[in-house]
Amino acid sequence: MSLNGQVAIVTGASRGIGRAIALKLALQGAAVVVTATTKEGAARTADEIAAAGGRALAVKVDVSVVSEVEALFKEAVAAFGKVDILVNNAGITKDGLLLRMKEEDWDAVLDVNLKGSFNCTREAAKIMSKARYGRIVNVSSVVGEMGNPGQANYCASKAGMIGLTKSVARELARRNVTVNAVTPGFIETDMTSELSEKTRESLQEQIPMGRLGSADDISGAVLFLVSDAAAYITGHVLSVNGGMYM
Ligand code: NAD
Repeated sequence: MSLNGQVAIVTGASRGIGRAIALKLALQGAAVVVTATTKEGAARTADEIAAAGGRALAVKVDVSVVSEVEALFKEAVAAFGKVDILVNNAGITKDGLLLRMKEEDWDAVLDVNLKGSFNCTREAAKIMSKARYGRIVNVSSVVGEMGNPGQANYCASKAGMIGLTKSVARELARRNVTVNAVTPGFIETDMTSELSEKTRESLQEQIPMGRLGSADDISGAVLFLVSDAAAYITGHVLSVNGGMYM
């Protein structure tokens, strides 16, 4: 699954799943533009890639801000000449039951998770359509498929990413640009580290494979979708959830 000569942008890659994806793509030979909300966060992962002999550029970006996303793509092209791969991974949660959910918590989650994916996808589409090649992967979530109490904003954003994936897949297919989604189950990262022991145990009972996933479980699926092995797959939603939702 060599990605030699390719250029990838991975959003939200300072830690967790995004970091694992950035490292995996770099290990296969891609030059990776690592983005995060802080320069230090992005630089941490970019330094790891460089230390392993790869090529990386760290960029501070808030994906919900159009001008910052436009600047990101300009910087990526200036540094590496093109963009072949986009992984929309940046995401946040602001959980709460519907009746208590504040408008700003709804807006913040939709702005980063869904509008951020739209912002980046639109910029990538301009470059990839012209090049007649591209791979876009959206990191959605199992709860975007099945719902979850206390996460109406997050689940709506992640379900929205699936609609975005399928629509853009149809629009860009003739240009040889594939657009797919992965839907991780519960994965061991900072996002899930605050779960109580009790919640963790009850989650594990709902997962046929009996364990939470790792960031590398997700990065492997993303690598497959951006590789030549997946050249004829588009508009697909790939579940990576240990069997939790089928
Ligand atoms: P994390 O909180 O560890 O990392 C999130 C990353 O997103 C960080 O690098 C952060 O800097 C970045 N980010 C946050 N807001 C941003 C913004 N406005 N602009 C740019 N970057 C921003 O999360 P994680 O667990 O690694 O999750 C990564 C993705 O996977 C998210 O989209 C999340 O919704 C999804 N996901 C996670 C799980 C899980 O169980 N951890 C399950 C399903 C889906």
